[in-house]
Amino acid sequence: MTENGSKNIIDVKDLQVSFFTDSGVVRALNGVNFAIPQGKAIGVVGESGCGKTVTSYAVLQLLAKTAKITQGTIQFQKRDGTVVDLTQYKPGSNEMRRIRGGEISMIFQEPMSSLSPVHTVYDQIAENLFLHKGINEKQARERTVELLQLVGIPKAAERMDEYTFQFSGGMRQRVMIAMALAPEPRVLIADEPTTALDVTIQAQVLQLIKRMQEEFNLSLMLITHDLGVVAHMVDQVYVMYRGRVVEDAPVMEVFYEPRHPYTRGLLNSIPKLRGPRGKVASIPGTVPDSYNLPSGCLFHPRCSQYIGEVCRQNVPQTRAVSANHRVSCFLYDETPDVQKEV
Ligand code: SF4
Repeated sequence: MTENGSKNIIDVKDLQVSFFTDSGVVRALNGVNFAIPQGKAIGVVGESGCGKTVTSYAVLQLLAKTAKITQGTIQFQKRDGTVVDLTQYKPGSNEMRRIRGGEISMIFQEPMSSLSPVHTVYDQIAENLFLHKGINEKQARERTVELLQLVGIPKAAERMDEYTFQFSGGMRQRVMIAMALAPEPRVLIADEPTTALDVTIQAQVLQLIKRMQEEFNLSLMLITHDLGVVAHMVDQVYVMYRGRVVEDAPVMEVFYEPRHPYTRGLLNSIPKLRGPRGKVASIPGTVPDSYNLPSGCLFHPRCSQYIGEVCRQNVPQTRAVSANHRVSCFLYDETPDVQKEV
């Protein structure tokens, strides 16, 4: 239990992030709520442009200079048990640097652009060890070999002095995972960790992340546009649409009792291995342009279950439909207590 009586290691409430650009203000996150319990895994799912990556960058205070957290809290339970609000730290502060990388690590989607081509694998892993673990050179080399072996890199002692361009895509992602694990974090954020990989390698990397999560009792936040990826990986799924969580539920409920029309659309878009051959279903239209958002429920121009003016003019509130299952949609509003456009 944390000091505030919660078992959540991260608790995000009403998170709002805007980008202040020359063309105007873009509201990227509009009241996002989610929690990661200690040792559990959550999946954050949605199409590109729904705010998944911005959410994770906000947690780590890695937002672009033009972006600002305008409202909300990100409560984080530190290793010593104290609970802090990460929105209160400046991105470059010592405290935030200690937490970022030391307690919360991230695996990025493009290992080639996230790893340095001019430093050896050892240099890049050791940097994390020196920064967060305060160990000497000999210990760092031993620990790097252990980490590379842990993530399944053969001949680790020889390969740690190679450069990342000498590694295959799958092996580079394993190096990235080793780097993320080096400071012994308590939270791992994996942002589309298999997008850049061949299908055959994707499953191996996901299995590795799952094994590491269980072995080290990590709290995992897995970000993906592919609902199929989260099936065997997470406990709770958060479905995001245009800066909001529109549904969240235990993973099996999302697959067997999806409520929100957007979640159903994402599920229908997963190619089926059995059944008649034909076109893969898709959700009509695209995620709305930030400068031209629709009124009311932001999903209404694409919604197959649109119920009229109420959807076009009002924003649905989040309602609990069962324990740990919430949805924002007028289909589940017995007493429409509507919130006007914000
Ligand atoms: Fe569709 Fe209306 Fe529900 Fe929005 S509120 S998802 S438009 S039914």
